[in-house]
Amino acid sequence: MLILECPYCGVNADETELHAGGEAHLKRFGPEASDEEFEGYLFVRENPKGVHLERWQHRYGCGKWFHAARCTTTLEVFGTYSAQTLAPPKELVAKIKEKRPDWTWREFGGAST
Ligand SMILES: [Zn+2]
Repeated sequence: MLILECPYCGVNADETELHAGGEAHLKRFGPEASDEEFEGYLFVRENPKGVHLERWQHRYGCGKWFHAARCTTTLEVFGTYSAQTLAPPKELVAKIKEKRPDWTWREFGGAST
């Protein structure tokens, strides 16, 4: 069973309390965006076999959205963090790279790791 710690209320919530929201850190483009940028925002998603940055909602708890770094093959959770960030925290990236040195994440809008 998937268990994620909500970074807002501190509860270790199991998957029955959570709602998945897809890939984290999608960049929303403005009205001047090209068709390719808008298409990418709407439809293009990562689907890695490995560590993925995801959006989750603590639906039956505090109700807030947060981000999680989770391996899609082993279900290992590397950590959770606020959804009010443009990039994963450096400490979390370091923790992931300790175990998966080749891991990278899809960057949007100049955000850096
Ligand atoms: Zn919560």
